[in-house]
Amino acid sequence: MPVWICRSCGVEHAPAADPPEECAICADDREDKLLEGPRWTTPDQLRDAGHETRVEELEPDLYGIRVVPRFGIGQRALLVRTPEGNLLWDPTGYLDRSAVERVRDLGGADCIVASHPHMYGVQIEWSRALGGIPVLVAEADRHWLQRSGPEVEYWTGRRRPLPGLTLHTLGGHFPGSAVVHWPAGAQGRGVLLSGDTLFVNPDRRTVAFMRSYVNPYPLSAAVVERIAGAVGDLSFDRIYANTGGVIDTGAREAVHRSARRHVAWVRGDHDDLT
Ligand SMILES: [Zn+2]
Ligand SMILES: [Zn+2]
Repeated sequence: MPVWICRSCGVEHAPAADPPEECAICADDREDKLLEGPRWTTPDQLRDAGHETRVEELEPDLYGIRVVPRFGIGQRALLVRTPEGNLLWDPTGYLDRSAVERVRDLGGADCIVASHPHMYGVQIEWSRALGGIPVLVAEADRHWLQRSGPEVEYWTGRRRPLPGLTLHTLGGHFPGSAVVHWPAGAQGRGVLLSGDTLFVNPDRRTVAFMRSYVNPYPLSAAVVERIAGAVGDLSFDRIYANTGGVIDTGAREAVHRSARRHVAWVRGDHDDLT
């Protein structure tokens, strides 16, 4: 029975003879968007349609993995290498042999984590291709998981999946939305791998804090202050976004500056300008 993959979000669903009735992730108002053509595809159909993967080095010990032509949400997955193991973050919605071989050549992966449910991709497929490694799923978002398996481990709060990496739950976009703190990244200045809770804007100097991005609506001032506070003690200079964006330097200050701007606007400080 095939694994069914939603063409709109790229998230895998449990193997079944027939595709699911609906994609719960896309039925939610954060992801709801117009979709032309059938909703469901399978790994074989994606391969036959010519989808491939591309792996590129972003900085020493950090690699981006993309699917071309772009498919689903189209995130760039990230493979972080540490001396004691590797983490695959925000896995793509399709994988091919060349991606698996490249990841293996880079030392393989020891666990898979998605920042939030829009980024689950084909995480179970990735796990099985890499030897059945653990797939960490935020407990707060477990009801969004559309395909489970013995690889899945639920986690909450803060967790060190490997000695050199820490997951932090920020919430916001989803209650379990998380980031990875990689202190050794950016030549030791520290890196955050973000999901949509810290969304790198096109200017690459600021971030957005939204409950929803496809159909935008914002988070409250209190939640944005909480999120900024949660990253306040972390040491980092650079943020990599799942969209391919990056704040190359000064990222920590950029988060706080962006949070102050967001809070001021939703509080009404600038209503005279509207
Ligand atoms: Zn979907
Ligand atoms: Zn999202």
